[in-house]
Formats: sequence, structure tokens, C-alpha cells
Amino acid sequence: DRESEAGGVAVVGLGRFGGQLAGALIRLGHEVLAIDRNADLVQRWSDQLDRVVQADATDEDALRQVGISDFRRVVVAIGASVEASVLTVLAMVELGVAQVWARATSEKHAKILAAVGAHHVIFPEAETGERVAHLIVTRMLDFIEFGDDFAIAKVRVPEALAGKSLSQVRPIDQYGVRILGAKLPGEPFEYASDSTVLRPEGILVVEGTLNQLQHFADLT
Ligand code: ADP
Repeated sequence: DRESEAGGVAVVGLGRFGGQLAGALIRLGHEVLAIDRNADLVQRWSDQLDRVVQADATDEDALRQVGISDFRRVVVAIGASVEASVLTVLAMVELGVAQVWARATSEKHAKILAAVGAHHVIFPEAETGERVAHLIVTRMLDFIEFGDDFAIAKVRVPEALAGKSLSQVRPIDQYGVRILGAKLPGEPFEYASDSTVLRPEGILVVEGTLNQLQHFADLT
């Protein structure tokens, strides 16, 4: 019904990316309608998702028939065929879907998707490649980058600072980063204060620019 589909997400393309995405949405408790033109894939997914439909998603009539306009959020997860991806996004936009998320596989593909009206363009290979490069060459454990190079990172307590309190370290003055919180293995996360001690086995949540964070994480 309309009420429940408002919280649901339609995913087009059950390839490696779309399949992972659909599975994650289900685990997060959302209803998923999946569309793929491949009958074998539709069969394989049919008992895991709420609804799996075999259809050509570039076909507006077919999309109307599955009731796509009842969905506020659609993800076009087709990668290999730029043509199918672009035509599907176009059809979704024309049918008035409020939030069309589209997967790009190249810079040019991303540009076209934005031009035909995708509201969000995601480029998993580029994003993951860039992320993993940072994780490989620095001692950051994880990070989220916001615009303008600003980021929040998860880092081990840098060797050079182990055992010191934040009032001694003065991270903003010394390194330009702010320590938001600390966590020891097996203990809950705690917001940082001047008296927080950087225990050697601790994990920190730190904000700053990516450069500052990398420098901070690598202090030995
Ligand atoms: P991945 O890299 O995630 O495996 P692919 O591009 O190989 O992505 O897979 C995309 C999926 O989208 C495939 O399962 C394919 O059958 C499906 N697909 C491609 N074009 C259409 C279309 N026009 N309508 C419906 N599904 C499509």
C-alpha cells in the first residue's frame, strides 16, 4: 500500500552493487522493490526481497505498471550499460520520482546522469578507491570527508601522545584538530574533556582538515 511504500526504496539492477545495496536496505528494515530485466536474477532474489519484478526499466509503461510513482526514492544501480542507466534515470524523472539516486561508472557518465535530472549521483568505484588510498597510506582507521576538505576521522592514539591528557596535548593549538571523543576497548565512547587521557590502546574521533588529520594520526 501507499503508506508502506513511502518508506520503501525501489532498486533497479540487481548486479553486484545493486544486490549489496538491496540487502543492506532490507537489513536496515526498509521495504525494497527490485527491478531487473534478467529472469535468473529475479528468481534468485525473489525470496529475499519484498517484491522483485522482471522488467526493462527504460520502459516507462513497464515502470508505471509496477507502480513506481508510489516510491519517493529510487536507486538506479545499473553500471555496465550507460545507455540503460541514463534512459532509466530519465524515465524515473519523467514519472515524477522525488529522489532519484543514480550510480555512475565514470566521470562522463556522472555528468550525463546529473544533466538528465538525477538528484544524487554516486560513483562507488571512485569514492571507494579514493577512500582506500587514504586508509592505506596513513594511520587513520576510517574517515568521513565533508566539503572543503573537512573531515572526521577515527584514529588510534598517536604514539607520540600516549599517556598525555588533552590539557597537555592542546590538539587545536598544536595540530589544528579537535578531539571529539575517545573509546577504550570494551568501554563506551566518551566525549573528550581537558582531563581525558589518551590511553595507548584508545581510539579517538577527531575533526579537522584531511591533511591535519593525517598529520595527527601519523605522529610518532
Ligand atoms: P554490477 O557492476 O553492480 O554487477 P551491472 O551493470 O553488471 O552492475 O549489473 C546491472 C544489473 O542491471 C544487471 O543485473 C542487469 O540485468 C540490470 N539491468 C541492466 N539494464 C537494465 C534495464 N534496462 N532494466 C532492468 N534491469 C537492467
